[in-house]
Amino acid sequence: MTQYVYRFGGGVSDGGKGDKNLLGGKGANLDGMASIGLPVPPGFTITTEMCTRYYEDGQVFPDSLKAEVANGIAHIEGVTGKKFGVAADPLLVSVRSGARASMPGMMDTVLNLGLNDETVVGLAAISGDDRFAWDSYRRFIQMYSDVVLELDHGAFEEALEIAKEDKGFTLDTELSAADWQALVKQYKAIVQDQWGKPFPQDVHEQLWGAVGAVFGSWQSERAKVYRRLNDIPADWGTAVNVQAMVFGNMGDTSATGVAFTRDPSKGDRAYYGEFLINAQGEDVVAGIRTPQYLTKVAREAAGAKPLSMEEAMPEVYGQLAKVFDLLETHYRDMQDIEFTVERGHLWMLQTRSGKRTAKAALKIAVDMASEGLITEEEAVARVDPSALDQLLHPTLDPNAPRDVIAKGLPASPGAASGIAVFDSDTAEHRAELGEAVILVRTETSPEDIHGMHAAKGILTARGGMTSHAAVVARGMGRPCVSGVGSLAIDAKAKSFRVAGREVREGDIITIDGSTGEVMVGEVATVEPELAGDFGVLMEWADKVRRLKVRANAETPLDCKVARSFGAEGVGLCRTEHMFFDAARITAVRQMILAEDEKGRRAALDKLLPEQRGDFAQIFEIMAGLPVTIRLLDPPLHEFLPHAEEEFSEVAEAAGVGIEALKRRAAELHEFNPMLGHRGCRLGVTYPEIYEMQARAIFEAAVEVAEKSGAAPIPEVMVPLVATRRELELMKDVIDRTAKAVFAEKGRTLDYLVGTMIELPRAALKAAEIAEVGEFFSFGTNDLTQTTLGVSRDDAGRFLTTYVDKGIYARDPFVSLDIEGVGELIELAAERGRKTRPGIKLGICGEHGGDPASIAFCEQTGLDYVSASPYRVPIARLAAAQAALKKG
Ligand code: PEP
Ligand code: MG
Repeated sequence: MTQYVYRFGGGVSDGGKGDKNLLGGKGANLDGMASIGLPVPPGFTITTEMCTRYYEDGQVFPDSLKAEVANGIAHIEGVTGKKFGVAADPLLVSVRSGARASMPGMMDTVLNLGLNDETVVGLAAISGDDRFAWDSYRRFIQMYSDVVLELDHGAFEEALEIAKEDKGFTLDTELSAADWQALVKQYKAIVQDQWGKPFPQDVHEQLWGAVGAVFGSWQSERAKVYRRLNDIPADWGTAVNVQAMVFGNMGDTSATGVAFTRDPSKGDRAYYGEFLINAQGEDVVAGIRTPQYLTKVAREAAGAKPLSMEEAMPEVYGQLAKVFDLLETHYRDMQDIEFTVERGHLWMLQTRSGKRTAKAALKIAVDMASEGLITEEEAVARVDPSALDQLLHPTLDPNAPRDVIAKGLPASPGAASGIAVFDSDTAEHRAELGEAVILVRTETSPEDIHGMHAAKGILTARGGMTSHAAVVARGMGRPCVSGVGSLAIDAKAKSFRVAGREVREGDIITIDGSTGEVMVGEVATVEPELAGDFGVLMEWADKVRRLKVRANAETPLDCKVARSFGAEGVGLCRTEHMFFDAARITAVRQMILAEDEKGRRAALDKLLPEQRGDFAQIFEIMAGLPVTIRLLDPPLHEFLPHAEEEFSEVAEAAGVGIEALKRRAAELHEFNPMLGHRGCRLGVTYPEIYEMQARAIFEAAVEVAEKSGAAPIPEVMVPLVATRRELELMKDVIDRTAKAVFAEKGRTLDYLVGTMIELPRAALKAAEIAEVGEFFSFGTNDLTQTTLGVSRDDAGRFLTTYVDKGIYARDPFVSLDIEGVGELIELAAERGRKTRPGIKLGICGEHGGDPASIAFCEQTGLDYVSASPYRVPIARLAAAQAALKKG
């Protein structure tokens, strides 16, 4: 017969072996604490398997459970010497839920169970405290009526309020024993009235009611929502813990508290917590009384008067400190603890791994490995890579007040304050004057690069997580909040309105790119610390990681940042970003608007030395490492002039008339530019563009190799390829150019020509494409866009609803749609390898910096991931964890 009840405490353990799956987290740890000799009130756990069976059987308990529970109660009676339901010395118990994964506050608890009209009198006599006994009884009726009988709790609160008002009291503590006794009478009348039956006096009926309610709460709406949000399967079930009550509210030698074995905010090795004298656990949480500090040091640091536990109860505190150390050694992690002191006697009520900030997680992991408590690999596995984001950027001071006016997507982490400006030229201009600016745009385009660069942060009304603003901001390490739909921007008037407020140019605003919040006024920030623990953990991560980590970077500054964060090369250099430089844009426009090849070549000749110079700088910074340079990708019209003077500048440079230029510009208009004349389609139609870029790459590579001796490893990448033939044509242009340059310079260099896989057709035809391409880099931004048929620039408007409704578990532009897009990647990798064994495979979409997507890349056996510079450390840690998991 299956055993459903496991006893713990008083020297008895039924040997659940700390199995959280069976006993739930709370039950497993209560048994664990009791087993290492800690003072745990005796009790028993009804297993999660019972919960599952309870639902399978149509919410009834098997007969065999009765005897098991009776045996459990007898165990508690035996240890405590009290008797359940017997007035002379009544046993009271708590009934609490405890799922496998902690679900704080989601499910039900009943305290003081076992009180009735007779036992309350016994409790009063035995405790010598009438007030305590009647207060306990009324708390029990209130809780039981709410949780088990599901009566309207408002009626109970109202009765209490009226009782206080009648007496002219404000605090519960002012009520006397007689007052509580009178209130119990009223509470019972409310139960009779609402439930149609008297409040249950049979303590066994009370117990079974509570057990049923805890199991029932597993299927409550809020529990279901919590499970969905936290990926907790519905069939796990919860356990029920029945345990002897201990009381922290039995006078001034009693207390209750919560504690962490280390500081959960900074990670310091110092006990941390709060306690209240003469109180029950719920009083600490409810915040009616201000709790006191645990340690003297903490009290003094806070300048608080009321004595710390260390000072007020030195003996019990000494015991507690020993317990903290024992628990850390036993569980090998920082613990979050609940305890009660009943008339000078310490009782442990709960322990679990404590939640902590990113900073604390890092420090605790490194410290514990240094203390020999855990291994380096365990330390690496313990820190959530995404949480590193918080550490790499300045963040808002959590203690500073903030006036939030809107919320958008947390597009690029970090926080920034500055004056609102509404166009990029003004942003640049005012930044040059030394002002901190926040660039506010409906959406950004490549023309805003200089403004974005000059700005401390970027705020847009439109665009999703892979919109231009988001991608570029992450690349630059600028905080960005995108897709704030409620923002009504009037760029002409240089102002925006939101929630009845108006912000004009020059007004100070603050954005938090980690939460998506937009605030009025300046909010203080705190700077990141990158040395110390951070560096140590990264070193340990690198020891176990298999995937290489490169950066998406195109400016020397980005490349330097990427190197300092440990990037092992460039995985994506988007050359178009170099075209927008103010010094070059006129030549670029001349190229685009040229009527023929001759005109284009004239413009390209002007661009060649500029590009060569850029590449040379990147090669120098990335000496000896691979650098993937992608040839021109975006639709040409993105570079077109708009203003009259821009047209005349181009006309002058090209020596043609303005009207002809305007006609040509109109011709270039596209209805669907994402699927238009972009990517290698530009190279196919105007090979001289790619030829110029290839020449710039090879000339720069030879120059750097000669100068520094460390030969760069160029990987020339062709974007948006769908067919083998496209790549073949482009490879031909690149190879011919390489040959010519090497002949001119009298020196050759190794290089690769490969392609992005960012269209479903390319993934399907990977076997053929690999006949030509020497490497694949998965461009998962476009591959997601084209596989899902969802525009990456417009997705922000509806994807949140999609995620809310569970259509996609997460934004597929942030975390790879492994089921769909992932299948195409697997298929392309397999087909590519078949043709070209060992073909180099990487990923350079935004997913290259997302931990879940990186785990997928490890599974698929890719060679590297490429992420924006500020995400490089996250990718290093995530890659290490993925390798550890794979084993
Ligand atoms: C991609 O499509 O994933 C990619 C990296 O290219 P881009 O974002 O520049 O289109
Ligand atoms: Mg792309």
